[in-house]
Amino acid sequence: MPGWFRPREPRAEPIDEGLWESATFPYLFMRGLAPADSERLRALASQFLARKHFSATHGLELTPFMRVQVAAQACILVLELGIGWYDGWTEVIVYPGQFAPEREVVDEAGVVHLVNDPMAGEAWLGGPVILSYEDVALTSDEEARVAGYNVVIHEFAHKLDMLSGDPNGFPPLHEGMSPAAWRDAFRDAYGDFCRRVDEADALAERDGGAALDALPIDPYAAESPSEFFAVVSEAFFETPEWLQPAYPAVYGQLRLFYRQDPLARLPAG
Ligand SMILES: [Zn+2]
Repeated sequence: MPGWFRPREPRAEPIDEGLWESATFPYLFMRGLAPADSERLRALASQFLARKHFSATHGLELTPFMRVQVAAQACILVLELGIGWYDGWTEVIVYPGQFAPEREVVDEAGVVHLVNDPMAGEAWLGGPVILSYEDVALTSDEEARVAGYNVVIHEFAHKLDMLSGDPNGFPPLHEGMSPAAWRDAFRDAYGDFCRRVDEADALAERDGGAALDALPIDPYAAESPSEFFAVVSEAFFETPEWLQPAYPAVYGQLRLFYRQDPLARLPAG
């Protein structure tokens, strides 16, 4: 009988255990994750695969392994929040490497410039997440990766931030979280970090960038409050042992927001 239908939950796309293990074992954010939590993450990733539409560009062939790599990293952010936090959009677009879309940018003097800076990833408000596969793969390359750099976590943190409109480093907080505590923690840390980046930049000619390399998080965080939130989210999951001592108040707010404590689950030593 035709008529009114309730939209059906997409059926989860199963990820077999071997594929899951091989795709996820190198990730820093998997360190210390209890087997039951890894199982929940696998279930969430299979829901993610069923709900999102993947497309590849420039002749890239997306294998099940590559899709699982993206899904696992995207889902670590919402392990305790639920897949519903990624509702409202469906496309994941994967480029083989970094991409350089041409954009018009208006500078402070009102002059329009055409720019095409290469990008590792991008998240659109209400639209797709776009990723460079080379950068996605880098995170699991134990030799080549830069600890703390995770393009998937970065772009999906922007997606969570965008749940409350234009990205500004202020995602929707849970009941019981204090917006003032969030604002204070992030404002103080962002101000401090921008100062440290300026100092390290000023030294770069003399020290060959050593002070920049010694920063606890990626200097790109100094771009804006929304980039700061995305970068500290990468650090929260990948290198909590560096983020927490550097910015304990931010770590504490992220712990409340993501409802996880990645530092506590790090294996001793
Ligand atoms: Zn960003």
